[in-house]
Amino acid sequence: MRVIAIDGPAGSGKSTVAKAVAERLGLQYLDTGAMYRSVAFAALRAGADPADHDVAADIARSIELDVSLDAVVVNGVDATVEIRGPEVTRSVSLVAANADVRTEMVSRQREWAERRGGGVLEGRDIGTVVFPDAELKVYLTADPEERARRRAKEVTDLDYETVASDLARRDALDTNRKADPLAEAPDAIQVDTTGLSIDEVVAKIEQLLI
Ligand code: C5P
Repeated sequence: MRVIAIDGPAGSGKSTVAKAVAERLGLQYLDTGAMYRSVAFAALRAGADPADHDVAADIARSIELDVSLDAVVVNGVDATVEIRGPEVTRSVSLVAANADVRTEMVSRQREWAERRGGGVLEGRDIGTVVFPDAELKVYLTADPEERARRRAKEVTDLDYETVASDLARRDALDTNRKADPLAEAPDAIQVDTTGLSIDEVVAKIEQLLI
């Protein structure tokens, strides 16, 4: 099974880079952040408090999820746009700090890759928890200002300051939580994407695979 793990904080370029690497290698791509976002989306839609441990865990276990390259369907509802919206973005790190939610998502992520004979998985804990034996582990970083600038370009309805403070808050929650925090695996290769184009980052990763 060929697994490539791409981890790093928000705005480090994970999604774009992971998709490009998957295409080059003829592997499928999984955005694990979309899975945690989908659980937050389902909780909000059910009128539940995403911080309620047991409710979020129940939702995670029962959720019907279809995360593909261009659409995310949650319990039969197209949530592609809404999972990236401000409401979900505000609460996703609370949901992702829930150890029972993580146990369920991690097991679904392993199953996803096993069914496909591998893949490129992007997230926060792929190299440390989900696939510690991945063939290649990449930890992407970038200056906080550049990460916020990239995100601000994607979400046109929020200003730079709002995006920057949201990123900092989410990074702090993701790094300091007890369950599977955002961390660089000891055997990961760190790639600083500040000032690099996507093609340059992808080329660097391809060199690591030779
Ligand atoms: O990658 P993205 O920014 O969409 O992830 C949204 C959130 O999901 C992260 O801020 C983090 O709280 C959570 N996440 C996680 N573990 C992963 C992927 C995402 O905890 N493997």
